[in-house]
Amino acid sequence: MLPVLYSDAPQNHLCSMCPKPGHCCHEFMLSSDNHNGSFWEEEWPQLAQQRLGERNLPFVPLRLRELTLDKESGKRFGVGVFTCPKLTSAGRCSIYEDRPSTCRDFQAASSPLCCFIKPALVKEAAKPHERE
Ligand code: SF4
Ligand code: SF4
Repeated sequence: MLPVLYSDAPQNHLCSMCPKPGHCCHEFMLSSDNHNGSFWEEEWPQLAQQRLGERNLPFVPLRLRELTLDKESGKRFGVGVFTCPKLTSAGRCSIYEDRPSTCRDFQAASSPLCCFIKPALVKEAAKPHERE
């Protein structure tokens, strides 16, 4: 679900002509089969940090977006936004050979993270998430 800067995969040749190298690694959200990427405000950022550690991911929790009130519990939750300290100022991945599989699997133009995606899709992705 996450960024890769440059890859040998043919579908990622877009990266070689990217106008904003590393755009996909600045700010991103994470989700998996058993977690939709949202966190209770009271658990953020500790739980996110714990999960990153369990998966040996180098990312850093930044903030929660789309904060929403859960009427039942009276608590707020939001979608976790992360950044990556392994991105260099030149927009390169400093651990390219050892980058996480989530970065290896990311395909250019597959999500609004990529600067080649259409703006309409960015709007679609900004819709509020449902808390699981
Ligand atoms: S923003 Fe898109 S094209 Fe640019 S480096 Fe990231 S995935 Fe590649
Ligand atoms: S590890 Fe590399 S490819 Fe993955 S988000 Fe960080 S800078 Fe980008």
